Amino acid sequence: MTVLPITTVGDPVLRRRAAEVAADELASAEVQAFIDDLVETKRAANGAGLAANQVGDVRRIAVVEVEAGNPRYPYKPPFPLTIMVNPELEAIGDETFDVSEGCLSVPDLRGMLRRHAQVRARFLDRHGEQRELVVRGLSAGTFQHEVDHLDGVLFLDRVTDPTTLTSWEQFERFGRAEFEAHARRIVERFGA
Ligand code: ZN
Repeated sequence: MTVLPITTVGDPVLRRRAAEVAADELASAEVQAFIDDLVETKRAANGAGLAANQVGDVRRIAVVEVEAGNPRYPYKPPFPLTIMVNPELEAIGDETFDVSEGCLSVPDLRGMLRRHAQVRARFLDRHGEQRELVVRGLSAGTFQHEVDHLDGVLFLDRVTDPTTLTSWEQFERFGRAEFEAHARRIVERFGA
């Protein structure tokens, strides 16, 4: 397995809509190895998720996984490794929450935006099996962030108030305590 370089904001690949993966292509050794590399790269970078665009590939593949004690996002509930091919999200209900997000492709910046509190994800797993998951709370936010990447959308595009943009250092100093209390309320209300 290989840790791939993660590209950053300004690279046009992050603005492209990733293309659906055909069943025979998904079964190929090359795509299976790419999925392994995507997972390895996400873990090496301590991400909560990673989408193909972020490593310069425009196939519609993204992974989500929050390991317990993730140092970038200690307030996120653990979420098991989920590999999504050709994912589609549908909001359930119209409840939303405000959340501070960062992104491996947007170095040293975080900002507040709004996410659906509950979504239904439909996707193929790496074996081509159709899957459906209902995801809530902060995990639902992570799913929306990753599928946004596959549509060429960055969290920056959704920041509701640009004055909330902050470097990670200043988030530590001025934002973390208040945001973590807010994040706990999201977890209590919506669960993982
Ligand atoms: Zn991202």
